[in-house]
Order: sequence, then C-alpha cells, then structure tokens
Amino acid sequence: MNFHVLTLFPEMVEQGLNTSIIGRAMKDKHISLHTVNIRDFSDNKHNRVDDYPYGGGAGMVIQPEPVYRAYASVAETSLSRAAGKKPRCIYLTPQGKVFNQTMVEEFAQEEELIFLCGHYEGIDERVLQEIVTDYVSIGDYVLTGGELASMVMIDAISRFVPGVLSNEESAQFESMQDNLLEYPHYTRPEEWHGQKVPSVLLTGDHNKIESWRWERSLERTRERRPDLMEKNRKLTVAYFSPTGGTRRAAEMLAGLLSQNPQYLDLTRRKFRKQTRRFTDKDLLLAAAPVYGGQLPQLKEALFTNFRGNHTPCILMAAYGNRHYEDTLAQMQDILEARGFYCIGAIAPVIPHIYSEKLGAGRPDAEDQKLFRRFAVTIKKRLEENFQEHLELPGNPKPEPKVLKPVQQFFDPDKCTGCQSCVQKCPAAAIDKDSHRILENLCVHCLRCEQACPTGARTSDTTAVRERLESSSRRVVEAY
Ligand code: SAM
Repeated sequence: MNFHVLTLFPEMVEQGLNTSIIGRAMKDKHISLHTVNIRDFSDNKHNRVDDYPYGGGAGMVIQPEPVYRAYASVAETSLSRAAGKKPRCIYLTPQGKVFNQTMVEEFAQEEELIFLCGHYEGIDERVLQEIVTDYVSIGDYVLTGGELASMVMIDAISRFVPGVLSNEESAQFESMQDNLLEYPHYTRPEEWHGQKVPSVLLTGDHNKIESWRWERSLERTRERRPDLMEKNRKLTVAYFSPTGGTRRAAEMLAGLLSQNPQYLDLTRRKFRKQTRRFTDKDLLLAAAPVYGGQLPQLKEALFTNFRGNHTPCILMAAYGNRHYEDTLAQMQDILEARGFYCIGAIAPVIPHIYSEKLGAGRPDAEDQKLFRRFAVTIKKRLEENFQEHLELPGNPKPEPKVLKPVQQFFDPDKCTGCQSCVQKCPAAAIDKDSHRILENLCVHCLRCEQACPTGARTSDTTAVRERLESSSRRVVEAY
C-alpha cells in the first residue's frame, strides 16, 4: 500500500509514523509513505500558499493552484492513473463522513491513497471539487490541521495490509469489527494490588475461555457503547453442503463478517424440517451448492422452513463449473417470500464433486480478496440500511432440471451394515434394509461415497466429468 500525504508539515507526518509497528512496516516495505510539501508548489518567491478569504472573515485559506500542482505531482505517476482511474484522494475535514472500522477495511483494499491535509481555515473549495474523492473526519471536533487525522487513518488502515502485523499482533477480529468491543486483557502477575486475574483464564480450558471472553465482550459493549450494541447482529450461517465445499466457502465469508457466527447444517434433514424464526436484529447467510444451475431438488426443500421478520440475508450459491444460472434467483425468491430481504449475493467457486480438476483448491487466496471486498460491501449496506431490491440473474421459479446421473455402484461384500451412508444421505435416498439407492430421491451428491468407511460405495463420473471439464467457466460473481 502506498500512502501519499499532501501537507504543509511533512516532517510532522513522517516523524509521527516512523516508529513502532508502522515504522517497521515501512522498513519492511509492506507500506510506503511519501509526503509532498504543498509549499514546494507555490508560485511566489516567499513560498506563500495561503491568502485572505473572499467575502472577509477571520483566518486564511490555502490557495487552489499549489494544492492542485502538489496533487498532480503524485497523481500523474499513480497506479490508478495508469489503470485509467481517478486516484482516491481523501480530504481530512471535520465536514467529512466520520471514520469508522468499515471505512478502514474499505480503504485497505486500495493499492494507494492520497491524503490532503488542510490548515488554517481550510482549502479553496474549487480545487477540492476537482481532486477529492472522499471527505473524511476523524471525529466531531476541530483540529488545527489534517496531519494528525491523516496519521490516524494511515495507522488504522495499515493494520489491514498483509504483513504489517506479525502473527502475535494480528487478530482476525478486534474491537469494532463487528460492532462489539473486545474483552478485557490480563497478564502477569496473577495478583496485583489485591486484584486477581479471573480464574477461568488460568484453567487452560479453551472453550470456557472463549465463552467467558464472548460474554465479557457483550457486557462491555452493552455498558460502554449501547449504540454499537444496537448495530451488532447475530449471524446465522445456514448451509447445505454434502461434501464440504459450500460449508468451507460459507465459513470463509462468515469469518469476515462476525467473530461468533452460528452454524446451521441443513445437510441434516432434521434441521431442514424444523421451523426457524429470525428477527430484524439477525443476519442470515444462506449457502447452497449449485446442481445443474439450480438449487438441489430435495424433498425437504432448502430454506422453506425459515421465517424472517424483515431480516437481512446474504445469498451464496457455490458452484464448481459452468454457471450458477437460476440458483441465486431461486434463493432470493424463497427467502423474500418468507420475510427476508436480500442485501447481497455471491457465487463463489468450490471444488466440483465430479472432478478433481474443476475448482480444485477454491476458494483460494485471490477468492479470499474478493470475499473481503464483498464483506465490506455487506457491512456498508447494513450501516446504510440498504433496502433496495437486489436484481439477480436467473429464473426464480425454474422447471426442475433432470440431471444426467453419474453411475453409482454398491458392493454388498464390502458393506458392514454400519448404516453410515443411510444416515448421512441428505436426501433420505438410501433404503436402510436393502441399501438400494432410491433414484427418485437421490441428488447424486456422492456424500454416501464419502461417508462409507469400507469403500462399498463408488461411482463412475468419467462421462460427466469429461463433458464438464471441456466447458468450464469459473468466475466469482457478487451482487
Ligand atoms: N474551517 C474549517 C471548518 O469549519 O470546517 C476547519 C478548519 S480546521 C481549523 C483546519 C484543518 O484541520 C482542516 O482543513 C482539516 O484538514 C483539519 N481538520 C480539523 N478537524 C478535523 C477533523 N475532525 N477530522 C479531520 N480533519 C480535521
């Protein structure tokens, strides 16, 4: 990440950032800091860049031309300009949007940022209109200049640049990231000024410690920041994932949205049968794999037992090849008819169940970046109380497709009668006595093959695989 700061006091910014973690990140070249002295672009021999305000009044105003030239000196060689985009230029001002953690995460996705620091009464409006893309305030008070504000932003954004925090310093979640404050911390000695470290922290029981920390985090947020508590939502991740690919993609996204997601495994029929109620304080991530461009055709259809109450939901249709076609539209249709409103949808790529080649290793590091971007979009939409109807491609009520079945085999000599395949089959498609597959119910997910400990169940996917591998298209799309 390259930070450029346009300022009248470059040494203040350089000295302020050149220590500790941010200083080390600069030395290790994870980030770079380039300051530009606006005064160097003055067109008079005294290097003056400010003048009296038109219309009278107290204080001086920074003139447009030196600011414009200082900006141009950076913008002309910027990465964004090379990519044909306007560089992101942030004017620090008490009149801007108040900086928060979602903005930190959003800015951290850029490759470079230009900060413009005002001084005196501020900067001539005309140049601001021409170059500024974002107006940001660091809080509802007035500083003498934008330098400290730019340093605050650079510090917070840098924490999200890969490599800046070491493993010990880095935490996926900290105060604010999902509108909760962090739990209290303790270190040696065990007793100090008569106060003991909470005993649970000395037990070594990881689960107990986690739930203690979670409780303290909620308690602290309720006490100190009830306004944040209002914004915190319980995330439920409801997924159908016979062979684990969809679950993995859903977990990846959920981990970027909440530190304590609740998982609901709809691969288990009993959970599909239960009615679940959600409130307007919940957030649902509904995740399903794509089977022939549609939702899997299950007797207890996915998400139909959910009841929302103006509950925001995110849709995920995970696919291994070709396209997700009608799946997102179907999910939207089912959930919106049941009291949910859709604030985002994503179709990630996962390993294809019939091919070791298709979608192998996905979601990968590049996908993770897209997930991050998508998670920020979701957080922004929640903050902005997004209510628009999301236009998703596909037919919400498609004719059920007849899938070309793969050939599945059963070797009774290898079967020990353990019933694992019968119990794990998400479609109740295996007869418990004969162990025969009931073709009218089977969704060909191959979970039985994965579940069988003795290899009694196998399949031949050659024909389907060859067709799929010759026509693959694997692009992550998000709405
Ligand atoms: N006259 C300006 C107004 O009322 O909006 C305030 C000018 S302030 C004295 C000087 C400079 O400090 C601003 O141009 C801005 O760059 C910076 N500044 C002041 N307060 C800030 C804040 N809360 N957040 C970000 N920058 C701030």
